Amino acid sequence: MSKKPLKVLLAQPRGFCAGVVRAVDIVERALEKFGKPVYVRHEIVHNKHVVETLKSKGAIFVEEVDEIPEGAVTIFSAHGVSQKVEGDAVGRFLEVIDATCPLVSKVHKEAQRYSRSGYEIVLIGHRGHPEVEGTMGQVPGTVHLVSRKEDVAGLKTTDSGKLAYVTQTTLSVDDTRDIITALRTRFPKIVGPDVKDICYATQNRQSVVREMVRHADVILVIGADYSSNSNRLREIGQESGVPSYLLPDASALDPAWLENVGTVGITAGASAPEELVQGLIQRLGDSFEVDVQNLETVKENIHFKLPRELMATA
Ligand code: SF4
Repeated sequence: MSKKPLKVLLAQPRGFCAGVVRAVDIVERALEKFGKPVYVRHEIVHNKHVVETLKSKGAIFVEEVDEIPEGAVTIFSAHGVSQKVEGDAVGRFLEVIDATCPLVSKVHKEAQRYSRSGYEIVLIGHRGHPEVEGTMGQVPGTVHLVSRKEDVAGLKTTDSGKLAYVTQTTLSVDDTRDIITALRTRFPKIVGPDVKDICYATQNRQSVVREMVRHADVILVIGADYSSNSNRLREIGQESGVPSYLLPDASALDPAWLENVGTVGITAGASAPEELVQGLIQRLGDSFEVDVQNLETVKENIHFKLPRELMATA
């Protein structure tokens, strides 16, 4: 029996961003340079497949630095850490290599600069996310966390004339814009960047999905369910009225999602490896005559340098 045709629109760009490439590279090069094991505080990036692959090469993942033997080679994840974690690492004489994404470090520096100039900080982000915990813990003064525009009304500040905001890097551009508007309406003197702190990779992956909803009957996002930027991609599709699903890999595909579907859009969060995308296309090919076409909105050509400690092996 001949297979039914299925058009696949493949998002361009998708998957690994420069910060994730750099973080994974750091762990691999540290293993080469220092030998096994190297310790990694928190999942280096939010993807189980990436973590399992690095574990098989000799990385040991922990949640807190007190789980790491004194003096061991230790890598901080791409999400960044608080000053307390940095201090705890010094206390245990750990040899730290920092894989914090340079764009997250930029937010840290921005928040610290505002704080030094006497501003109280509003951080737009999701409670409990490691990036948010890291950023909050990088600022010595008060940091108010705001996750939704409704939270703005309840903000209690000391001096509404001395307020600054910064944002988590992986939020939805649209939601963040709404929160910034609500902040500016309530606190006309508040200062901060436009939506620029949302990183280029997050913005680019979201903008392809905004284009994709115009052509696809269903959108499949490869990514972990606890990955912030992957969740935003699914939400953008869903909110535009296109059924959208987040799946860790091809094995989670439910054939019912594709009943009476002519065009499926596929993308991947910034921490999802390309092999998982290809695995999904292959699985679709088992049941359909697949015609893959790229849907490109922007070319990405960003690379971040490795930390100094690993440059020699690069
Ligand atoms: S999504 Fe953006 S901020 Fe996060 S690691 Fe990638 S480049 Fe860095």
